[in-house]
Amino acid sequence: MTNPFDDIPPGRVDQLLDRLNEARIGPDTKMQCKVCWWVYDPEEGCEEWDIPPGTPFTELPEHFTCPGCGNDKTSFLVKDDE
Ligand SMILES: [Zn+2]
Repeated sequence: MTNPFDDIPPGRVDQLLDRLNEARIGPDTKMQCKVCWWVYDPEEGCEEWDIPPGTPFTELPEHFTCPGCGNDKTSFLVKDDE
């Protein structure tokens, strides 16, 4: 049996969660900051960062930080649509 998380050291639950999280990010997936609850909506882009509408979260620049609290992209989680 192969385990896709073999390369993650035991105990690194945060890395495991990150990977599961990333696997769920699609081109139109909304992402929510877990610190301040600011939401990135790919349909709207982000004015603060000059991100044009239609930009997937995964295409955001590496230096992108949350306009609400200044934390980086790792602070974002997939927002489940109600
Ligand atoms: Zn934030």
